[in-house]
Amino acid sequence: NEFEDYFLKRELLMGIYEKGFEKPSPIQEESIPIALTGSDILARAKNGTGKTAAFCIPALEKIDTDINKIQVVILVPTRELALQTSQVCKELGKHLQIQVMVTTGGTSLKDDIMRLYQPVHLLVGTPGRILDLTKKGICKLSDCAMLAMDEADKLLSPEFQPSVEELIEFLPKQRQILMFSATFPVTVKDFKDRYLKKPYVVNL
Ligand code: AMP
Repeated sequence: NEFEDYFLKRELLMGIYEKGFEKPSPIQEESIPIALTGSDILARAKNGTGKTAAFCIPALEKIDTDINKIQVVILVPTRELALQTSQVCKELGKHLQIQVMVTTGGTSLKDDIMRLYQPVHLLVGTPGRILDLTKKGICKLSDCAMLAMDEADKLLSPEFQPSVEELIEFLPKQRQILMFSATFPVTVKDFKDRYLKKPYVVNL
């Protein structure tokens, strides 16, 4: 398999090659074509397998920069991971005009509110802060057709699970969920049964 096989936007393909990716990794080969069809995915993926690009590439492909609305949310459990993930999106999307924003707890809410007055296409952050901004009506998720969850096992720990589930209610009915998790505990299986529609399960 080659990245060319996915018929990605030329600018995205350029970003992928400039980042030094020559061929899709196994998790990317399994996930990217399925994600591009709009299907939900539950993938078991450890760090170091290329899982970040496995959801960032479909996310970047799906975003239409003519529409100044949040079209993708990437949920992660930590600020550190949010920053790393947004960096990957910015690098892969270097030749696209996609506006990426990071928002997590422990930072100024006011700064986030100011930032959301400007166009944002892709939001990366932790559940509590995104839910807070959404409930305040500042972050609008009515056009967010894709939700990616990285380290889903951690996102479904008691600390985050209620926020994640509340947040999902703000997404449109026609939405795609891409879940990546190192382990498949019962919380992940239960969440899959309740929220994912005929998910494609990747178990490498
Ligand atoms: P991740 O599992 O997403 O943390 O990625 C692990 C490392 O693999 C990162 O340094 C990525 O930049 C790199 N990587 C991801 N996909 C590819 C690929 N298709 N070819 C080469 N390196 C990759």
